[in-house]
Amino acid sequence: MQFGTVEGRFVLVRKGRMLDVAAASAGALPSDVLTALGRWDEVRAWAATADWSGSVDVTPDRLGPPVPAPRQVFAIALNYRPHAAEAGFVAPDAPLVFTKFPTCITGPVATVTLPPGNVDWEIEVVAIIGAGGHRIPRAAAWDAVAGLTCGQDLSERLQQLRGTPPQFSLAKSHLGFGPIGPVGVTPDAFPDRDDVGFESLLFTEQSPDGEVLQRDRTANMIFPIDDLVARLSQVCPLLPGDLVFTGTPAGVGNRRTPPRFLRPGETLVSRLDGVGEIRQTFVSP
Ligand code: ZN
Repeated sequence: MQFGTVEGRFVLVRKGRMLDVAAASAGALPSDVLTALGRWDEVRAWAATADWSGSVDVTPDRLGPPVPAPRQVFAIALNYRPHAAEAGFVAPDAPLVFTKFPTCITGPVATVTLPPGNVDWEIEVVAIIGAGGHRIPRAAAWDAVAGLTCGQDLSERLQQLRGTPPQFSLAKSHLGFGPIGPVGVTPDAFPDRDDVGFESLLFTEQSPDGEVLQRDRTANMIFPIDDLVARLSQVCPLLPGDLVFTGTPAGVGNRRTPPRFLRPGETLVSRLDGVGEIRQTFVSP
């Protein structure tokens, strides 16, 4: 099952059509995405037999973020060994966690104004929490995930790495720095929920067909998605619609020789198998 939002309302998506859940259920289910995710078992049961006769066409640019206003956004650093190595670190023995402040979350198709500094890409698989819970055991952690979506953990590297020790969260929370979408896809819809491929491409004047920036699979994570959910929930009660940015693989711009950062006029496309793609075009201030 695929879900998302259009103009802030919770919708199901199927083959280019969308179904407004509150309208199609005659108000039995909510239009608010956080409330719907909090009643996830009920939504799933209803969706299994939903009548799609009231559905309408939807194009990707009409979709908003699957969760427009999450209350908690967790993000994981160094969750792929080659990325930890390129960043000059040994692989961590416990997840390294920071936040992207929720106002940075945007939809799948967006124009992002580049702030001063060095803005870099980080494609990430993003887990969307369903009903949530506190101290979720790992064996139950996948059941706590409503869906996976594609995301970018856009990062301004000068501010991120300036201090000693460096601080991650603020430099990763500029307006538009947390694009997600185009839809959330329930874990049961993937051939293997623990092994999902993804890639990002940069379209420039020199590379009109797109240059591959990053490409990997979630099977290569140091801490898999269910492990992250279980560990985070040991500390913080997870709330409906919380997001977990699960870490980026190798290939970020600031570890290239020479370093390479996003420039005005360039378009970043990120794809997650079974989910679709998100697209950001960058402009100068
Ligand atoms: Zn990241």
